[in-house]
Amino acid sequence: MARVGSKDYYQALGVPETASADEIKKAYRKLAKQYHPDANQNDPQAAERFKEVGEAYSVLHDPEKRKQYDQMRKMGAFTGFGAGQAGAPGAGFGTHTGPDVRFTVDDLGDMGGLGDLFSSIFDFGRKRRPRAGPEKGPDLEYTVDIPLGTAARGGTIAIAVPVTEECAVCSGTGAAPGTRTTVCVECGGSGSISFGHGGFAVKRPCPACYGRGQIPAEPCHACAGTGQVRQERRIRLKVPAGVDTGSKIRLSGQGQRGEGGGPPGDLLITVQVQPDRFFRREGLDVHCTVPVNIAQAALGSQIRVRTVDGKRVAIRIPPGTQSGTKLRIPGQGIEKGGRRGDQYVHVKITVPEKLDSDEERLMREFAEAAKLRY
Ligand SMILES: [Zn+2]
Ligand SMILES: [Zn+2]
Repeated sequence: MARVGSKDYYQALGVPETASADEIKKAYRKLAKQYHPDANQNDPQAAERFKEVGEAYSVLHDPEKRKQYDQMRKMGAFTGFGAGQAGAPGAGFGTHTGPDVRFTVDDLGDMGGLGDLFSSIFDFGRKRRPRAGPEKGPDLEYTVDIPLGTAARGGTIAIAVPVTEECAVCSGTGAAPGTRTTVCVECGGSGSISFGHGGFAVKRPCPACYGRGQIPAEPCHACAGTGQVRQERRIRLKVPAGVDTGSKIRLSGQGQRGEGGGPPGDLLITVQVQPDRFFRREGLDVHCTVPVNIAQAALGSQIRVRTVDGKRVAIRIPPGTQSGTKLRIPGQGIEKGGRRGDQYVHVKITVPEKLDSDEERLMREFAEAAKLRY
């Protein structure tokens, strides 16, 4: 179930409320083209905008619906577009909180049921009454370790998140399939029990029937009658390029299931980039240290260096390179927002610990020759 925030359709299309039908059509075409999934692959924010634009147009291009919408807008049923939209899956790094006023696309039906939607929001606006019954489930938080290469270039990783799900065997009823249920004697079928305390009573869900008011003759074996099971949900997580430790990724609707058939909460993932033995990260740049022997440094040579992609690129060590020299490989750093940092290779000249007789002889010759020159 896709959720939409309380949004302003005029702002979504970037047109004034006095816009003509032509202007609306023009704005829609331009934005639909700009955010079209074909042109924005793997960009969840663009996908979200594309959806918003389509939604806004479906209302505003129909004179009847637009009239109704305008009336509703005047009533202040909408608190303004973008006032805390829920993040789209993998939308990135914000810690948005959801809007206070929400309705579901399901309420919209095929847009033919728009009248129902309007009346429910009118109702809401008048009475300030929260939706009774189904409640949105709580958000889940989860921390995930990712390698530097994935953080640098983005990618998809598989994660398993522990969640409480409705038991599939009994559909959450807690009763073994085909079992009869009887009224709970503890709570008399109300599902809640009052604890008298100092002159007032506190209501709690009945522990005997888990708040259902009914006791199955035989509890479901899969969930021991609780109606819930703890299990791991496997998710293919899309990691946007450029994330760093502490970056958050919000997955809409992947949180804990809602009470009474309400929509599930969100899954809020905190990224932790694993330390890398070779690379050090500094902003968008990465640094590494590469050993080079005396002859390579003195005579010049070509070496191959690993990049964050896991590829190897050849770089030239110029003749006479000193230890500590920093060589730049452009564009091989971290990618973020269309920009790419560089890779810096720090040359470390290593001296052989042991020489064989030939090497020692040559080294002595070198020392003799060097004496004459330096
Ligand atoms: Zn069960
Ligand atoms: Zn009970």
